[in-house]
Amino acid sequence: EPVLMWFRTDLRIHDNPALHAAAQQGRPVVAIVFETHHQWARHGIGPRKINLMRAAMASLHDSLAARNIPLLIETVADFEASRQRIAHWLQALGARQLFFNNEYEVNERRRDIMVCRDAAAQGVDVQRFHDQCLLAPGSVNNKAGLPFRVYTPFRKAWMADAGPALTAPLPAPAVQAPFEWPDHLLMPVSSVAEPNVDPLWSASEDDAHQQLQEFIDERARQYHQERDFPGLDSTSRLSVPLSLGLLSPRQCLYAAVRFNDGRLDGGRSGFQTWINELVWREFYRHLLVAFPELCKHRAFKPETEVIRWRHAPDEFAAWCEGRTGYPIVDAAQQQLLQEGWMHNRLRMISAMFLTKHLLIDWRQGEAFFNQYLLDADLASNNGGWQWSASTGADGAPWFRIFNPLLQSRKFDATGEFIARFVPALASLPPDSRHEPDGLQRRRCGYPTAIVEHSFGRQRALDAFGVLGKPV
Ligand code: FAD
Repeated sequence: EPVLMWFRTDLRIHDNPALHAAAQQGRPVVAIVFETHHQWARHGIGPRKINLMRAAMASLHDSLAARNIPLLIETVADFEASRQRIAHWLQALGARQLFFNNEYEVNERRRDIMVCRDAAAQGVDVQRFHDQCLLAPGSVNNKAGLPFRVYTPFRKAWMADAGPALTAPLPAPAVQAPFEWPDHLLMPVSSVAEPNVDPLWSASEDDAHQQLQEFIDERARQYHQERDFPGLDSTSRLSVPLSLGLLSPRQCLYAAVRFNDGRLDGGRSGFQTWINELVWREFYRHLLVAFPELCKHRAFKPETEVIRWRHAPDEFAAWCEGRTGYPIVDAAQQQLLQEGWMHNRLRMISAMFLTKHLLIDWRQGEAFFNQYLLDADLASNNGGWQWSASTGADGAPWFRIFNPLLQSRKFDATGEFIARFVPALASLPPDSRHEPDGLQRRRCGYPTAIVEHSFGRQRALDAFGVLGKPV
């Protein structure tokens, strides 16, 4: 009888621990993946990301087919339905083993508890693996055995364990003998989706590898100097393949270390800085498991729940659509809408503007990003929003509010990025693009600023002041 491999956010054949282990069992592997459209809707995932996920499933189908591993792509409503289908297929195939990589969000974990319970009742052995982080969530703790709440000590502890854990990525499974469907089963025809091709983003695992290699070869060395300038496009943009699981963090770290003279910590500044960002990614995932209330729209710092956010639907809509009259914020939002991705510096500027200058609840911004980002990921998105709103673990101190105009002059000095995403301002001299005057705004048909900077700043300071004086 075959073993069943269940794919989730790990849509790749290389360095996939569950798939690798399944293929080692000496039995044929049958694989399955679900499109759970109602669940996705409930999780606020946008259509462009769903399209990309479906494209990634189709690509995975082909890579597995080349190894004679059939992939069933089933469309079901939600996690509950996927649980039932797993029980069905285990029984129909007579499979005695189920393999998958863990997911860490609350609903996903609940589903897996139920799946394990069903499997136990069916006499099926479940084997689960960690692949989303190099070090399993829960395994990096302080001396008291408690999870870290702050990045720097987390990073230190992580580094101490990560070296030995960073072994070579696992190979893809070998070609197996063609799978013969049992006589009593009609060979299921997988509806290999025909998703639209995204104009900007590939859903192929091979392309993700190439993107990683290009980044390492061409941009990683200067990363520490150039990463903060949105116009330079100097970051890896690997967050999208990472969030689909086309690539594993191990593959990224392993490649970086190889080109960093074998060093995970230290070495060349560009590589070290990039590795630190991947550790931020791990930190936020570890937090999500240690503090599951983060999955339930709660602030990491409960005392910040007293902040009185403004109910301002028109201003929120203006922010969403890039009509705030702050060119750098509007350009950032346009990048999100057009590319399905936003540069990290701009995510911080835009999120801080929404939560401080407009004093709008970070949860609204988080949901909007979640819907439009192709790298949308609960742990990192929530972490980034709570950092910007000063409600999070190790967040920006609430009294240190970015001035969007200074940020603009510093990180888009030539105004080229603004001109690219707010073309109405492209005719202005570069220096005027950060803060056009009234006449220039009228001429370009560009809105006046939604809030005056010092007024917005003071209003935020007053609202956050309830938290008490900064120490
Ligand atoms: P690079 O600079 O090349 O970094 C390499 C990798 O490190 C990234 O692909 C990512 O996996 C990880 N990384 C980098 N910066 C961070 C960070 N600050 N936190 C966590 N991981 C990081 N990242 C997401 O993957 N999904 C999200 O939904 C998301 N939402 C965010 C929301 C806000 C408000 C903020 C401030 C940040 C958010 N980030 C999110 C983190 C970061 O902005 C993106 O990971 C990064 O911009 C992706 O671009 P890149 O792949 O070129 O990154």
